[in-house]
Amino acid sequence: MKKYDYLIVGSGLFGAVFAHEATKKGKKCLVIDKRNHTGGNIYCENIEGINVHKYGAHIFHTNDKGIWDYLNQFVEFNRYTNSPVANYNGKLYNLPFNMNTFYQMWGTVTPAEAQAKIEEQKKEFGIKNPQNLEEQAISLVGKDIYEILIKEYTEKQWGRKATDLPSFIIKRLPVRFTFDNNYFNDMYQGIPIGGYNKIIEGLLEGVEVKLNVDFFEDRESWGNIAEKLIFTGKIDEYYNYCFGKLQYRSLRFENEILNQENFQGNAVVNYTSKKEDHTRIIEHKHFEFGTQSKTVITREYSIEASSDAEPYYPINDEINNELYRKYKKMADEEINVIFGGRLAEYKYYDMHQVIGSALKKTRDIFGV
Ligand code: FAD
Ligand code: UDP
Repeated sequence: MKKYDYLIVGSGLFGAVFAHEATKKGKKCLVIDKRNHTGGNIYCENIEGINVHKYGAHIFHTNDKGIWDYLNQFVEFNRYTNSPVANYNGKLYNLPFNMNTFYQMWGTVTPAEAQAKIEEQKKEFGIKNPQNLEEQAISLVGKDIYEILIKEYTEKQWGRKATDLPSFIIKRLPVRFTFDNNYFNDMYQGIPIGGYNKIIEGLLEGVEVKLNVDFFEDRESWGNIAEKLIFTGKIDEYYNYCFGKLQYRSLRFENEILNQENFQGNAVVNYTSKKEDHTRIIEHKHFEFGTQSKTVITREYSIEASSDAEPYYPINDEINNELYRKYKKMADEEINVIFGGRLAEYKYYDMHQVIGSALKKTRDIFGV
């Protein structure tokens, strides 16, 4: 008999949901994390009374009432609706692509006019079956929007040509012929009142957690401490990069505390021109309608993930997906190890998808 039923590597959403559900079923769990806090990338740090999203802006959204109700056990959500603004060389456009954007771009007033403009621009390229992000974007919104709001931002964000990126990435953004600046189509959306940490605290209540512990520094002993392992770190690292390294995009965050109440009037402003190096500026207080006398802003820069940079975004192009499939084949043969979350499943998951994936796993193991 080992000391724990489950060793859970990673206290992000996947690890925390798994730990919560397993503990409810009477299993003894230990969660370890190499960071000095729990929560993974949804962790917030309180600065000047403002919840600062330490690893990038996080807006919760889902269409799944079950997942929404699940989180509402731990925290209430405010009515925040994400409506980023794009700044291209000083000119502002509403996002996602909607009637406001089309008016700002072309002066079109009706949906029919906007649709006609897009059709006319698409025709020039004759794209039937979009094969990459560029072709997909032009097919959705035409050449002007692609050039002003997508191409340079995308190439800064991914460090790759838009023609070398998969088309699904741009399909994350809605295209609408209504005057609606809501970035998401989902039924449920908001920011947890009191911050994201409350969700993790609720999930991990009563669960043993050890911080500042890297699984790989002593994987042999960790391997012997529990009957089963839940691994939410990088799958390629787990297998000692035996097939080669999966690529990730990383980010550099520059925080600034400003002695003014309101810097940009919106939580998220995207800088879509290559003239600025940063991709976006986040003004955190606006997620919670803050009225503090100061404000905290974060400039976000996208960088390639080297060995000491945090891996934030899996790069799901064909080469990487092919490599991932090799690791996944090995993972599928494991009896006592379960891989889950953005890094271990190598998927560009949003929060609700990670929660969905963890709940599915626990249902498969423990039943309803
Ligand atoms: P993580 O949160 O990455 O947690 C993994 C944990 O494992 C980390 O704490 C890490 O320290 C730990 N770990 C890794 N390796 C080891 C090891 N060897 N030993 C010990 N511990 C280890 N989703 C949305 O729904 N809406 C958004 O607006 C949104 N915005 C985002 C913005 C950015 C910039 C990023 C990067 C992501 C965003 N997401 C958003 C996605 C969201 O962050 C993820 O879906 C979710 O947090 C992933 O949870 P996870 O548990 O899979 O991974
Ligand atoms: N994108 C863009 N211009 C923008 C915002 C997004 O071209 O102003 C593209 C870019 O390729 C980005 C993708 O759409 O990676 C998905 O955007 P999202 O806001 O969902 O990215 P995330 O918040 O996950 O970084």
